[in-house]
Amino acid sequence: MGIAGEAQAHDISMVRRLLWTEMASEELIGNVASSVESDAQAIQDFFVEMLKINAVNPRMGGPGERERADFLEGFLKDNGFPVTRVDVRDSEAPGGIRPSISAKLGGKDGSRSLWYISHMDTVPEGSRDLWKTDPFEPTIKDGKVYARGAEDNGQSLVASLFALLTLKKLGLQLPYNVGVWFVSDEEFASNYGIKALLRRRLFKESDLVVVPDSGSPRGVDIEIAEKGLLWMKVTTKGKQVHASLPKKGLNAHRVGMRLAMELDGFLNGKYRRRNKLFDYSVSSFEPTKKEANVGNVNTVPGMDVFYFDCRVLPVYSLDDVESDVRRTIRRFEKKYHASIEFEEIEKERAGPATPQDSEVAVMLRRAVNKVAGVKPRFVGIGGQTVGNLFRMEGIPTAVWSTIDDVPHEPNEYSKIANLINDTKVFAAAPLLG
Ligand SMILES: [Zn+2]
Repeated sequence: MGIAGEAQAHDISMVRRLLWTEMASEELIGNVASSVESDAQAIQDFFVEMLKINAVNPRMGGPGERERADFLEGFLKDNGFPVTRVDVRDSEAPGGIRPSISAKLGGKDGSRSLWYISHMDTVPEGSRDLWKTDPFEPTIKDGKVYARGAEDNGQSLVASLFALLTLKKLGLQLPYNVGVWFVSDEEFASNYGIKALLRRRLFKESDLVVVPDSGSPRGVDIEIAEKGLLWMKVTTKGKQVHASLPKKGLNAHRVGMRLAMELDGFLNGKYRRRNKLFDYSVSSFEPTKKEANVGNVNTVPGMDVFYFDCRVLPVYSLDDVESDVRRTIRRFEKKYHASIEFEEIEKERAGPATPQDSEVAVMLRRAVNKVAGVKPRFVGIGGQTVGNLFRMEGIPTAVWSTIDDVPHEPNEYSKIANLINDTKVFAAAPLLG
C-alpha cells in the first residue's frame, strides 16, 4: 500500500472511531435522558418537599440550614450513599451549627473529582404582601414551582442530587469521582460554608468544580470569569463656617467633589483594558452614594463623604487601584490642606479567569450543547459567586444553570422543565469526555 493508501486507511479508521464515539455518546445521552425522564415526577415531588423547609440564613433572621441538611442527609443515606457532613459551629445560629453535606460516586481516577456545589440557605421572603402564594408552601402553576429559594439555589441543588442518583442507577463507569456539596451560608458571606470547607482543604487543584448558582434563561451562558470588587468610602474634613465668609473656613464639599471627579477621570482612564467575555467589557469605577452634609444652604460644609463602587477586570490588581486612590488623596490633602480619610468598605479580589480550554469548561460546554441542544458561550460577570472563591485557590471553576434569573424576588420560581433539563446535563457531563 502506497503512502496515499495508508493515509486513506488511517483517515477511514479515524472517521470510524469518531462515528463510534459520536454514537456511543448519543446512546449515553439517550440513556441518561430517559432515566431522568422516568424520574421526573419523583424529582419534582422531592423539590417541593425540600422547599417546604424554611432555610433562611440565620444572619438574616431565619432558622438556618439545619433541618434542610438533615432532610438531604436522610435522603442520600436512604439511597445508599455514604454522607460526609461538616458541621461548623456558629453560636448565633439556632442549634449552634451550620452544616454542609456531601456525597460522591467513585470513578476510574479516584484521585480527583467533579463537584457540583450548591447552597441550602436562602434569603428571607421579604414583604409577604408582594407574594401571590405562600413562599414556604411551594405552589405549582404553568410548569413553574413558586417558593422562596426555588431558583436560588434549590433547582440546581435538586438537579445535581438527582444527576448523582441517575449515575448511580445507570452504573456506568465514571472517568473520575463525581460528587455534590450542599453548603451553608452562601447568602451572607460563606464563612460557615464554602470558606470553611476550603480551609479544611476538601478540594484539589485537579478537581473540576461547577457552581450552578447563576445562569441564563436558555442555558447558553457558561460563566468563567468575575470582576474584582472594591467599595470605597472617602471622608473629607474641612472647616465649617458661615457661607458669607467662606475664606474663614475650608469647604469640604468642594474638595470632596473635585476629588471624586479626579478619581472618576483617573481610574476610568488608567484601567481601560477590555475583556470581551464580559457584557460590560471594561472595569467600572462609579461614584455612587453621597452622604448628606449640612442641613441648611447658608453653611459651608466642614465634612464631605462620598463612595465609589469599583468592579475591576481580573487582569488588574485591586491593590494597585487602592494605592492609586491613596496617592491621589495625599496629593489633595497637600493641595487643599484638608484631612482626607480612605476606607475600604468591601474588597473581594477576583481569582484568575477559568481558561476556555480547561477541562471543566470544555466538559460543560459539550454537555450543554449535546444535551440541552443550545450553543453555549463563555461569559464573565460583574458580580461575584462562590465560584470566585475556588478560582482564588487555583481551582478552575465554571458557573452554569438554566434559570429565568429571579433570585431574591417575591414570587421567585423555577421552571420544572429547567430542573429536569439541568439534571440531564449534570448527569451526562462526566460521561461525554
Ligand atoms: Zn444563590
